[in-house]
Amino acid sequence: MRAELDRSLPARVRAAVAATRAVNALSRRLGTGSGTVAGGHAGLAVDPKLLEHLTAGRRVALVSGTNGKTTTTRLLAVALEGALGPVATNATGSNMPTGHVTALAVSLPGAPAVLEVDEGYLPGLVRTLAAEVVVLLNLSRDQLDRTNEVRMVSNRWRTALSGSPVTAVVANADDPLVVWAASAAAKPTWVAAGLSWRKDAVGCPACAGRVEFASAGDGGWSCACGFARPRLDVVLDGDEIVLADGRRYRLALALPGRFNRANAVMAAAASSAMGVGWEEALRRIAEVDEVAGRFSIVEVGGCTARVMLAKNPAGWRELLDLVSPGGRPVVVGINARVADGKDPSWLWDVPFERLRGRCVIATGERCRDLSVRLRYAEVAHRTVRDEVAAVRAAWMAHGGAAPGDGRASGEGAGDGADAEDPGGAVDVDFIGNYTAFTDVMARAAARTHA
Ligand SMILES: [Zn+2]
Repeated sequence: MRAELDRSLPARVRAAVAATRAVNALSRRLGTGSGTVAGGHAGLAVDPKLLEHLTAGRRVALVSGTNGKTTTTRLLAVALEGALGPVATNATGSNMPTGHVTALAVSLPGAPAVLEVDEGYLPGLVRTLAAEVVVLLNLSRDQLDRTNEVRMVSNRWRTALSGSPVTAVVANADDPLVVWAASAAAKPTWVAAGLSWRKDAVGCPACAGRVEFASAGDGGWSCACGFARPRLDVVLDGDEIVLADGRRYRLALALPGRFNRANAVMAAAASSAMGVGWEEALRRIAEVDEVAGRFSIVEVGGCTARVMLAKNPAGWRELLDLVSPGGRPVVVGINARVADGKDPSWLWDVPFERLRGRCVIATGERCRDLSVRLRYAEVAHRTVRDEVAAVRAAWMAHGGAAPGDGRASGEGAGDGADAEDPGGAVDVDFIGNYTAFTDVMARAAARTHA
């Protein structure tokens, strides 16, 4: 399935591509991971400009933002593939140049590239790659010990986009920090994709005054200095997409939640900017039902769990909104390894109060931090450190069947039939941060639904 080496590339680039592939293959064989990072390092060591060389002559889309970039990248790749053929993409979320190099090294020569980009690396890529489209989703606080302050990121994006050769910028007009950055581009496409987390956006990036958000709920915002939400090109209105010229499209998704509707409209707007029509893009996007395992429904701990990933307060807020109308038990899991960010104090910014009255189990290596937070939120809960045992405990506490009894009977299975799970087939919702999520996915017995 590996693409042939492109003979038109210079010898050094071919050597770098060969090194990338060889190290990836070795890394996979040794079981030290999928190899995307190690291979990329090897390729960049041979040719430091490998990323520029491998994107030369390709159509390139870059997707960045704090939340939703893995999903949006996937949806955009799927939307483009029908019209443009196979796409080179870093589907596993390795969103730094090492991951980009690997995605390109294994792709067909000349295939369009849709790359998820870490927020910090975006300015460099905007400057060095002749990207056709840049998609800017949102900016909010993330791993406290690792990432830059969001206003600084917004300013760096703005500087990079000003006078850049990027052809099109598709930007979330509901996020003032994104608008501040994207206004530097020649003619951004402004999409009202929504912003439920506003605490990082109240300080005006233009004057340091206060951004006021309209209370009416249309998402409008402005500052006394004149910085305000721009005139919209695309509006996400519930399940409908409305374009400035009056065209309307129905948005039907297999993926759950408001935030995924926002990701989908951003992906469709980007594919439209690359010449793929809205109808075709939305038809293909509608079929995606999981992204890198997220939202998968899996067998774990003897029951069926919907497994979701939240990495920061904005992401947690969206997922708590998604699960809170349902009646089934919820397992929340926190680790604080390097990949998660070692400082879990962001827990205090997450509205766990929304879980009051539910059957809640706290799990993960930092389940005690989580337990303290839940106690202050007045959420009755138990702590079970092992994630799989926690899922099982949640299910049993909620009337799950004992081992050997077959499928759950009674309330355990019956009351999960909410709008986001029409079949009512899910026993437990699991929300974890990065390594808590990957641990559960690795230990899931089977995927009941891809
Ligand atoms: Zn202002």
